[in-house]
Amino acid sequence: SSSSFGGGDAALGGSGKRMPVGLKKPSKRVAVTGGAGFVGSHLVDKLLSRGDSVIVIDNFFTGRKENVVHHFGNPRFELIRHDVVEPILLEVDEIYHLACPASPVHYKYNPIKTIKTNVMGTLNMLGLAKRIGARFLLTSTSEVYGDPLEHPQKETYWGHVNPIGVRSCYDEGKRTAETLTMDYHRGAEVEVRIARIFNTYGPRMCLDDGRVVSNFVAQALRKEPMTVYGDGKQTRSFQFVSDLVDGLVALMEGEHIGPFNLGNPGEFTMLELAEVVKEVVDPSATIEFRPNTADDPHMRKPDISKAKELLNWEPKVTLHEGLPLMVTDFSKRILSAEK
Ligand code: NAD
Ligand code: UDP
Ligand code: UDP
Repeated sequence: SSSSFGGGDAALGGSGKRMPVGLKKPSKRVAVTGGAGFVGSHLVDKLLSRGDSVIVIDNFFTGRKENVVHHFGNPRFELIRHDVVEPILLEVDEIYHLACPASPVHYKYNPIKTIKTNVMGTLNMLGLAKRIGARFLLTSTSEVYGDPLEHPQKETYWGHVNPIGVRSCYDEGKRTAETLTMDYHRGAEVEVRIARIFNTYGPRMCLDDGRVVSNFVAQALRKEPMTVYGDGKQTRSFQFVSDLVDGLVALMEGEHIGPFNLGNPGEFTMLELAEVVKEVVDPSATIEFRPNTADDPHMRKPDISKAKELLNWEPKVTLHEGLPLMVTDFSKRILSAEK
């Protein structure tokens, strides 16, 4: 707050230099690529609320202006329609690099664009970070572990990934993005951070995003059967978005490069998830089985001991607590879209 910098004879600014009496600590300038998307927009809320200046870079492929429209008019907020596959010039202190479709339905829609976003987009953002001396955080994914043979997954696991499958544009794309990030760190002294994010849900997900939590919730609200792919015995671990955002900021501001798993270790089969959605949304909801997609990982659960120990972070919101918050947002949006 301003009072802690206004009083005494001198105060320390972010740079460690002495600041003249009466001056506020300069706010941090932060770029968030993919900031109009689901996770990005919640991150932007948090950064702005604590006083940072934020530049969102987004091409609106899966992101929406509505996710950030409440910041229009805030002088510390800027929104640039830009595709990260093209170079960009700007000056910031930190770059959170999220730009990339995250739902399998979206990233398989144009796989060439997905891998270009992961490779060329990440290269451009690292080139930018190098030129301006910004700290760079990559949002990688649990998909780098592929269909894992180790369970739960630790950061030391190298993964089990099909390099030529229909998911490869995303998982091999993110693996290459991690490689680029480490090479810019080792070869060009860029300060970097890597988060491996596990399945995350919450308000502002696209209604027809295709991911399992958004599908089940939207289907139950619309009185349609919930579509369970395969036998429904595959597992995932679902993290509420506010926990993820706290983890991303802790990682950016901590001293460790990572990679860090950021996820909620609570593990559910898809059938169990359908039961929870039933309890929360509509006890009369039904399920319907559909064939599963190719290369679908059979199980996934993060080992988060590294983030607990080094970032002092762990998720706080259980699925039973988080789901109702998402349901409130979804029911409002479904009602207004369908009336
Ligand atoms: P999202 O699809 O809601 O957001 C992605 C954002 O990036 C959108 O606003 C989209 O318009 C933008 N974007 C896509 N391609 C772009 C490009 N070429 N140039 C500029 N902007 C572009 O997805 P999300 O769930 O918010 O995911 C954000 C990040 O977190 C992604 O990098 C994703 O891989 C990662 N992640 C998410 C999850 C999850 O469960 N949500 C899990 C693992 C990793
Ligand atoms: N880049 C960018 N903005 C910058 C600096 C670089 O978009 O401010 C892009 C640049 O166009 C290049 C990529 O980042 O495609 C990698 O830049 P780097 O300087 O590392 O490599 P080089 O340009 O030497 O190939
Ligand atoms: N899934 C499902 N019904 C749906 C959508 C997905 O049963 O309507 C399954 C999917 O087969 C996978 C799991 O839910 O096993 C998680 O899929 P999602 O697309 O949410 O994320 P992923 O972890 O595969 O990236």
